[in-house]
Amino acid sequence: MAGPRGTTWQEDVGRDLVRNLGDRLALLVRGEGAYVWDAEGRRYLDFLAGIAVNSLGHAHPVFVEAIARQAATLAHVSNYFATPPQLELAARLKRIAGTGDAGRVYFGNSGAEANEAAFKLARLHGAAKNGGQGRPRILALKSAFHGRTMGTLALTGKPAMQEPFLPMVPGVEFIDSTIDALDAALDERVAALFVEPIKGEAGVIELPEGYLEAARALTARHGALLILDEIQTGAGRTGEWFAFQHTGITPDAITVAKGIGGGFPIGALITYGAASDLFYPGTHGSTFGGNALGTAVAGAVLAEIEEAGLLRNATERGAQIRAAVDAIESPLVEGCRGQGLLIGIGLRHPIAAAVVAAAQEHGLIVNAANDETIRLAPALTIGDVEVDEFAGLFAAALKTVEDALMLEASGSEEEIPA
Ligand SMILES: *Cc1c(COP(=O)(O)O)cnc(C)c1O
Repeated sequence: MAGPRGTTWQEDVGRDLVRNLGDRLALLVRGEGAYVWDAEGRRYLDFLAGIAVNSLGHAHPVFVEAIARQAATLAHVSNYFATPPQLELAARLKRIAGTGDAGRVYFGNSGAEANEAAFKLARLHGAAKNGGQGRPRILALKSAFHGRTMGTLALTGKPAMQEPFLPMVPGVEFIDSTIDALDAALDERVAALFVEPIKGEAGVIELPEGYLEAARALTARHGALLILDEIQTGAGRTGEWFAFQHTGITPDAITVAKGIGGGFPIGALITYGAASDLFYPGTHGSTFGGNALGTAVAGAVLAEIEEAGLLRNATERGAQIRAAVDAIESPLVEGCRGQGLLIGIGLRHPIAAAVVAAAQEHGLIVNAANDETIRLAPALTIGDVEVDEFAGLFAAALKTVEDALMLEASGSEEEIPA
């Protein structure tokens, strides 16, 4: 397919876009529901949904109508003014996050911006606690992902990602994801603990049983904030509005983005209790954050998730997917991790990229979260027919990879001298 200048789209990508990413998998031109189409007219079943973003699938009428209606009414006015969609979304987020009256919401445009706000919240708490300097330490979990900006990269416990950009914003320490490690690390100089309830980018890795409950008790004991990054796990993906709601705890703050906008870029920091009084005028802001267009779309997306019963669908379809994957008889598959419609399929060999490529050949989009994990994060709207279709396509992709590996193995055997 020729790009706008008669060159291939791959050539256009290579020439015109910053080389911060690898090769793109396809040139996609259209989406509808759980499907997308490439420029050659090939259809794919989309079980990534923009990395847990397209909660309602592609081109959902609620999403389309909300954008069109709000764009034709009032899109953006700056934060010198309030708008009805912004206030309605704040109230809705407080309700679904269970903050009670004391909660507050800050709007940004992405996950990283939500976490930047949370980082500032932690610093404000650290300062407020002890004459401006008492709590310089921030704890975060090894291998958790919190974003790509300098602040959120400093929170991200992946040394290889940080290395080209040293020095980091100071004060962050990384600990193992165990209750013992947290207990040992906490003291009165810790301002906050950041936790990703299920480590999505790391490969859909769950925390140990009881971790969030212990983290809540221990941070409270030491006067540190418990801040949960629900950017990937939120908006109903795990079967509750937010993953922490599978437990009985109340955090001090959560960050949300990805799925709440259904494809429109928006993020938010939601605070609970006393953490809601830390920001004061002049301490943070964003030109686009919380504008009428973005908040109208997110409000409509969240309302549809609620009205269409999509939390329950996430639980049910998630169970159906796990059962289907478990039923595939492949020597390559180890088993499923995750919750609801955030699923990691563990592989027995570092072949995730080959599985993704084979799946794409068969008309299925899945993601390699790491070398040995396939990540699934389909739209919350998928039905059982689409799960059945997924199961067939995924089994076929695994068979393709298995056959290729067998060929390779038999080829190399021939080369081994008898
Ligand atoms: C995606 C993600 C982020 C970063 O969000 P952006 O919108 O890409 O800035 C942060 N934390 C988690 C857990 C994520 O999954």
